[in-house]
Amino acid sequence: MRDNEQKIIIVGCARSGLAAAKLAREAGCVATVYDQKAYTAFHQEVQEVIDELKGLGISFYLNEEVSLLDYDLIVMSPGVPTDLPFLEAARQQGKKIIGELEYAFTFCKAPVIAITGTNGKTTTTTLVGQIMKAYNKETYVVGNIGRAFSEDVLNIPEDGIVVAEVSSFQLETIETFHPKVAAILNITPDHLNRHKTMENYCQAKYSVFKNQTAADAIIINENDPYFAEVKRLAAAQVITFNNQQSTHCGAYQQGDYLYENIAGEKALLCAVKALKIVGAHNIENALAAIAICTAFGVPRNIIMETLKTFMGVEHRLEYVCTKAGVDYYNDSKATNVGAAIPGLLGMHKPIRLIGGGMDKKISFAEWVALFKGRVQKLYLIGECKNQIMDECRQQGFLDFEAYNTFEEAIQACYLEAQNEECVLLSPACASWDMFESYEQRGDLFKEIVNHLEG
Ligand code: ADP
Repeated sequence: MRDNEQKIIIVGCARSGLAAAKLAREAGCVATVYDQKAYTAFHQEVQEVIDELKGLGISFYLNEEVSLLDYDLIVMSPGVPTDLPFLEAARQQGKKIIGELEYAFTFCKAPVIAITGTNGKTTTTTLVGQIMKAYNKETYVVGNIGRAFSEDVLNIPEDGIVVAEVSSFQLETIETFHPKVAAILNITPDHLNRHKTMENYCQAKYSVFKNQTAADAIIINENDPYFAEVKRLAAAQVITFNNQQSTHCGAYQQGDYLYENIAGEKALLCAVKALKIVGAHNIENALAAIAICTAFGVPRNIIMETLKTFMGVEHRLEYVCTKAGVDYYNDSKATNVGAAIPGLLGMHKPIRLIGGGMDKKISFAEWVALFKGRVQKLYLIGECKNQIMDECRQQGFLDFEAYNTFEEAIQACYLEAQNEECVLLSPACASWDMFESYEQRGDLFKEIVNHLEG
C-alpha cells in the first residue's frame, strides 16, 4: 500500500521531472520539483515545464537551498548525475533515492521490454516499438527515447506492452525494475565523464537484468567483448544475435541473409537487401529486434513485415541530398567513437568528414585509425578539436583543418568536395559545447546543405 501522505521531491526540472511529479500527485503523494540550476539558465522547454508546474500548483525550487531530508523519497530525473554532493549527503542520512524509470515501474502492470547499450538504442527501440504496435496496439514506447515512462504508466493496461529505451543513467538507480525481455546491444566507452570508469559504466548496464529470473530473456550481442560476462551473471534465458556467423539460440546474419535459430530449428528470414536500413550496425539492430520480439512471442510474419518497411531514424546516418555529385549524410547522433565508426564504414565514397564537439574524455584513437584510405579531409569544430588533431598527428593523418564555426566547416566541405565524394557529419562528440542538442546540430546541417547550390 502506498502512503498517500508520502512527500516526494523530484530532482531535475525538465519533461521527465514534470511527468514524475504529475504521477506522484495522481498517486496521492505530495510532489515537489527541485533543480540546482538558476531559473535564467533554462531554455524554452524548461520554461514550459515551469509554467505547467505553476498551473498545477506543484511547488518547485530552483537554485535555492532545499533540505532533502524533509522528504520521504527522492526521485531523480535521468539527466541528473547521481553523485552530486547534496544527493550523497541525503544518501548518507538514509534517504531513499531512485530514478524516474524505477519510480514509474512501481506503478506498471504491463510487461516491459527494456533496451539498453551504448549505441543503437533509439533505432532498435523504435523498430521494436513498431513491431510491437503491429502485434498489440496497446504498446507504449517510453524512456530515453523522449517520452517519460511516468507520462504513460497509469494508462497502460495489464495486457499492454511497454517498450523502454533505457540509458545507463536510468539504470544506475533501479531497485525493482524487472523487464520480461531485456537487451544489451553493445558496450563501448561513453559517458566516462559521469560514470568515471568503464567498470561502473558496465555495472550500470548490467543492472538491466539484475531482477530477471529464468522465466525472462536477456538478448545480447555475441560479438561484444562483454558477452561472456553477461552470460555468466544473468539468471534469465540468454538469447543472442550475431552479424558474422550462426548462433545457437537467436538471430544471425550469414552471408547476404538473415536467419533465426530457435530451439535447434534454423529458419531463413530474408535477404539483407530486402531491408531499407543500411550499414552493418543497422543489421545488428535489426537482428537484436528480431531476437527481442521472438523472445516476447511475436509471430515471425509480423516481425518480418514491419522490419522490411523500417526506414531508420532521423540524425542516424541519414541521407540528406546530393549536390553537384556530392552526397550529404547527417549522422549528428554519432556522439561517441563507437557510434561514429559505423558511419565511416558505411560510406562507399571518399569522405569529407565533419567531426568534433564537446569533450567527454574518451579516446579518439580507434576512430582516427580508420581515416587513412577513407577520409579525404577532416573538418574539425568544437571543444576537443586540439585533442583530435593531436591524435591525427600521432597516427600520421595530416589532412585536417579546424574551423571556428559549424557553418564555415560546412562551407569548406562544399567548396572542396569533388564529384563522387560524400560529406558526412559524424562528430564522434556530443553537441553541447556549440548547440542545444544533437538534433539542433543535425537540423542546422540539413538546412544549410539543402540550400547549397548545385
Ligand atoms: P542511441 O539511442 O543508443 O544513441 P541511436 O540508434 O540513436 O543509438 O544511434 C546513435 C548513433 O549510433 C548513430 O550515429 C548510429 O548510426 C550509431 N549506431 C546505431 N546503431 C549502432 C550499433 N548497433 N552499433 C554502433 N553504432 C550504432
